Amino acid sequence: MNTSALSCADCSAPNPQWASINRGVLICNECCSVHRSLGRHVSQVRSIRAPNWPPVQKEMLFTLYNKGANSLWEHALHNSSSKVKLKKPSYRDKLQTTRHDFIIAKYKNLQLLPRISHKDNPNAYQDLSKQLHASVRTNNLETCLRLLALGGNPNFCHPERGNTPLHVASQAGQAMQVELLIIHGANPCTLDGLGHTPEECARIAGHHQLADRLIEMQYELADKLSFFLCGRKPMHSMGEHYLIPNVAGSGLNVGLGEANTRLQELDNEQFEQLACDVCDEVDRRETDAIWLTTEQLQSSIAFLPVNPTLSPLRNQGTTETGHSGRPGLCSAGGGSLSGH
Ligand SMILES: [Zn+2]
Repeated sequence: MNTSALSCADCSAPNPQWASINRGVLICNECCSVHRSLGRHVSQVRSIRAPNWPPVQKEMLFTLYNKGANSLWEHALHNSSSKVKLKKPSYRDKLQTTRHDFIIAKYKNLQLLPRISHKDNPNAYQDLSKQLHASVRTNNLETCLRLLALGGNPNFCHPERGNTPLHVASQAGQAMQVELLIIHGANPCTLDGLGHTPEECARIAGHHQLADRLIEMQYELADKLSFFLCGRKPMHSMGEHYLIPNVAGSGLNVGLGEANTRLQELDNEQFEQLACDVCDEVDRRETDAIWLTTEQLQSSIAFLPVNPTLSPLRNQGTTETGHSGRPGLCSAGGGSLSGH
């Protein structure tokens, strides 16, 4: 892909090689190092050279880029009545001070987003969610990104219709809206009032390709683990949804019997949390594998950054800086997950 005409959303450097998928922007290597240090809950980065990037997700990203998604995150910079005193850095500015601070203000503290007033409207968030529910049936991605950024709930269940924005987008065949909702936390397994999943809504409406993609997304977490443990993913189109990994001799340093016992002791919520954490760690290692081949070798993010919305227990394998810290749950097993 020719990216020479494109520019970094944060410092305007030409030829950005990374994307922040949930923000809909492209970023340069250096700004990407800051994004990675903030954690996946703030910015989900992916190399635009990454293999196995689902084509529709990539299309969603470039559609948002082309529609000027970045102007949403920098709204106050272009608004003369804004009281925010921030200046957009250039790629000639120092990374560790000027650009770093700008990126934190922009994506972590959301200082430049439009403000919505709750004073006159206590139902502001519900209104945003209702607008989102209505907008996802159109192809207007940037409106939906805006509604999500302002606090619209991707899992909002419409009180009269009994379904979520994901059901609506799936039924309408809006594949890119489906990607956007899921990257912002919509649950692909949720049921509507008739007991249908979004995948079933897509299939009933004749959107078979989208329905197949929704199946992939339902099993994304398990598939990531399968790929690292077995070197392949299940064939969902053949009705195969889980692989039993052959891990004998793979270097896992916990006895399988013991690991099994420990897993069975977890309740559903704990198991889901563990699976999410392992999935995040797999994603970090996948990104790192590409990261370390970039021309300007950056310091690697050795551990997942702390996510303040998670409990201290779940954050014990992470670190504030990404360069030091205790290997915890996520790092157990050493390099065995990245061995494929
Ligand atoms: Zn940059």
